[in-house]
Amino acid sequence: MSDKPHQNLAVIGHVDHGKSTMVGRLLFETGSVPEHVIEQHREEAEEKGKGGFEFAYVMDNLAEERERGVTIDIAHQEFDTDEYYFTIVDCPGHRDFVKNMITGASQADNAVLVVAADDGVAPQTREHVFLARTLGIDELIVAVNKMDVVDYSEDTYKQVVSDVTDLFKQVQFNTDDASFIPTSAFEGDNVSEASENTPWYDGETLLEALNSLPVPEPPTDAPLRLPIQDVYTISGIGTVPVGRIETGTMNTGDNVSFQPSDVGGEVKTIEMHHEEVPSAEPGDNVGFNVRGIGKDDIRRGDVCGPADEPPSVAETFTAQVVVMQHPSVITAGYTPVFHAHTAQVACTIESIDKKMDPASGEVAEENPDFIQSGDAAVVTVRPQKPLSIEPSSEIPELGSFAVRDMGQTIAAGKVLDVNEA
Ligand code: GDP
Repeated sequence: MSDKPHQNLAVIGHVDHGKSTMVGRLLFETGSVPEHVIEQHREEAEEKGKGGFEFAYVMDNLAEERERGVTIDIAHQEFDTDEYYFTIVDCPGHRDFVKNMITGASQADNAVLVVAADDGVAPQTREHVFLARTLGIDELIVAVNKMDVVDYSEDTYKQVVSDVTDLFKQVQFNTDDASFIPTSAFEGDNVSEASENTPWYDGETLLEALNSLPVPEPPTDAPLRLPIQDVYTISGIGTVPVGRIETGTMNTGDNVSFQPSDVGGEVKTIEMHHEEVPSAEPGDNVGFNVRGIGKDDIRRGDVCGPADEPPSVAETFTAQVVVMQHPSVITAGYTPVFHAHTAQVACTIESIDKKMDPASGEVAEENPDFIQSGDAAVVTVRPQKPLSIEPSSEIPELGSFAVRDMGQTIAAGKVLDVNEA
């Protein structure tokens, strides 16, 4: 670990615009992936007819490894710059990218938005920018990528910058909080060194922009909250839930409770990076073992917290939501799937309480009959199965969600109040 301040960084953008390649490039240029590993992947990639895609290939391999559950070390990719120690809170190659982003973006302090110069603003560009804004990303660094494909054309770059700026205005993301850089993740232009191919650009490189990000706000002093990602059985140890600590600390000997499964016990061991540790803190990815807990007692979507301050389980909750895209209108009774931390639960929108004016934040209409794309509203939600979730004002890390239906993110929001079961 390093003494530098820590930044959680999300890398977002439309599929194939170069997120994995950019992350691979960043890891490579900051010396975080040894040359021989890259070389090995380059050879393998060439054998499989994917020659030249080694950076993306590194990321895909890491994602695959994680999905197969080969290792319980689920540490995210890390690199450091002169100013900061960065953790990439998302695995860009992952097939459930948006779902991850709900948890990832809410943990991320800042984000790099990758937009391919030859494709411009695409559906997932919109979706990710919308989520970033709703979930509270502070600053966006926009990498206008694949500049090599458009012959480093300044005009094309300016067009993309203008389209992305329009998108920011639509979702009311303050454009002062964004910077734009023409890059090629593939060729390495303007990533760590100013490129000779873009003489018309005299701004920062991507690494310089990362260095100039503001220092993130310190974490809250909330109690332990650890959403469970997976539950493994490891020989010699027993049941090992794994996940990332969002808030608080976990120590061996602590009495913990898993909600909504409603079981608990004493933490016997905690493992991080294949080593046993006596305690772990926010941002740490851990596997741990709790006395008396079997594999079928707990599941993905449970949240682990202190036995004396257990995670809340909602009978109903109120939330502020923003509707991003819905083919028709949303009325009371609508029951899409809510994605909150690692949980996915069908929830009924029981009532639409207020429609808000998104610009001013004032109430525009009480008890409207429906809401539609672009609307912000306060709604009352009833989970169809037990769901652990927290008010965003108390534990922001556990207080946001995305609403998905028909394979798309329909809305995203923040929890205002929880009525406990
Ligand atoms: P992701 O889906 O956003 O993670 O995109 P990938 O990183 O997997 O990249 C998709 C494809 O675009 C791969 O074939 C990459 O090699 C290629 N690619 C990524 N960045 C660049 C770039 O800057 N220039 C060119 N020419 N190709 C790129």
